[in-house]
Amino acid sequence: MSQRINTIAVIGSGTMGAGIAEVAASAGHQVLLYDIASEALARAIDGIRSRLESRVARGKLSTEACASTLANLHPVADLSALAAAGLVIEAASERLEVKKALFSQLAEICPPQTLLTSNTSSISITAIAADVRHPERVAGLHFFNPAPVMKLVEVVSGLATSPEVVEQLCQCVMHWGKQPVRCHSTPGFIVNRVARPFYAEAWRALEEQVADAAVIDAALRDGGRFPMGPLALTDLIGQDVNFAVTCSVFNAFWQERRFLPSLQQQELVLAGRLGKKSGQGVYRWPEGAPAVAFHPAIAEQLHAREVHKRGDVVTLDNVLLMTTDGEIAQAKAARLKCPVVLMDYCEGDVTAIAAADSNSSQETAKAVAWLQQQGKQVVMIADYPGLLVWRTVAMLVNEALDALQKGVASETDIDTAMRLGVNYPRGPLQWGEILGWQRVLTMLENLQRHYGEERYRPCSLLRQRALLECGYES
Ligand code: NAD
Repeated sequence: MSQRINTIAVIGSGTMGAGIAEVAASAGHQVLLYDIASEALARAIDGIRSRLESRVARGKLSTEACASTLANLHPVADLSALAAAGLVIEAASERLEVKKALFSQLAEICPPQTLLTSNTSSISITAIAADVRHPERVAGLHFFNPAPVMKLVEVVSGLATSPEVVEQLCQCVMHWGKQPVRCHSTPGFIVNRVARPFYAEAWRALEEQVADAAVIDAALRDGGRFPMGPLALTDLIGQDVNFAVTCSVFNAFWQERRFLPSLQQQELVLAGRLGKKSGQGVYRWPEGAPAVAFHPAIAEQLHAREVHKRGDVVTLDNVLLMTTDGEIAQAKAARLKCPVVLMDYCEGDVTAIAAADSNSSQETAKAVAWLQQQGKQVVMIADYPGLLVWRTVAMLVNEALDALQKGVASETDIDTAMRLGVNYPRGPLQWGEILGWQRVLTMLENLQRHYGEERYRPCSLLRQRALLECGYES
């Protein structure tokens, strides 16, 4: 297959088009690069050259490989020159009318066996293919930015895309040394849909003044082992870009509440605080997030005298320290009639905790002291259901199950997409398996009860998995 597709055309030579052209040229394809703006073409070729040359200078690429990649790139001034390509990858502006016009022209210019693909992040592949002759050869090839670095490519089928075309594209992606995942054309495909709660839960915590932005980020990064905190990540992506993706997924799902965009993020966008690129977003840049003030060490005499640990619950004299299940600490304290401190999901050094308001400071200090003895950096947040990491992970698991149940992609492909597309420490479905489906379900049911909101409704596949997990237990 990779021999059959010798020549690849890339349309649009902006951020993504230039990166994709570099990938294909490095893999030995002849690459025809077209852009409506000739200066964009020249900029793209210069950019690729300087990236390759800097890799040569760092000893990461041979001079010969650099020269042959550059020789494989052919800027063209006319769309009709793309007739020679076996595969066309469109990476022009994210507007349906632009893409539809391009695909109609391509269908006239290229023979019927030419594969026509779009790198769109949010437009339906079915819509792009609707007026194209032989729509079975139209598909999505969704690269991640920066294309030469990111391993994942979502291979997206529209309603008319043939399985053979998907197979050919997957082969091609593997030939480029990348990992394909297959998915159907639904809003956000896999990554941009399943990742929404990662941002949405952080914005909600910020809006409800549960903790400072830096604390929220530290909990997710250093407790949840995500590569970066969600708020810092939106600053890097650009508040405008991240907000636009959220709005697009929200609207495409008919204003589904769980994708509701954040008003606080909208304020940043309206103010032009777009993140790192504008010098200010959630944080000031280049400084980024300020240091987090962790709980100071608790004096020896305030430590609990009697400590018992059973499963997830630690009894410290009269105080219960428990992992959150989505119920707030005060509700547990009232029901169990004792002081309660809740801890977040934590695989790393940093753990967020929340104490019942009725606890005395000495009672809460016993929990802090015990966690410090376990080597944790403790940060106190408001009494918030599901704390920071646990509820985010539960929402990611729920979204991944919803996508799985609706046939968007396979279980393996969903997990692979989230590990390689956004570098999550594990795929959300594997995470659900490890945490236990029933625990995830309990978390969401408690969140839904607390807020009375549709946003936290568990998907039916989660209920089914939780039931199966329980077996015949009553
Ligand atoms: P960009 O603005 O950097 O580049 C777009 C290029 O397309 C420009 O050079 C423009 O001159 C050219 N163009 C516009 N209309 C054209 C036409 N009719 N014919 C030929 N060229 C045309 O945009 P980008 O960030 O590279 O995004 C391109 C596509 O990739 C979009 O569909 C976007 O949704 C998608 N995408 C972007 C990212 C990202 O992180 N930037 C990631 C994945 C997918």
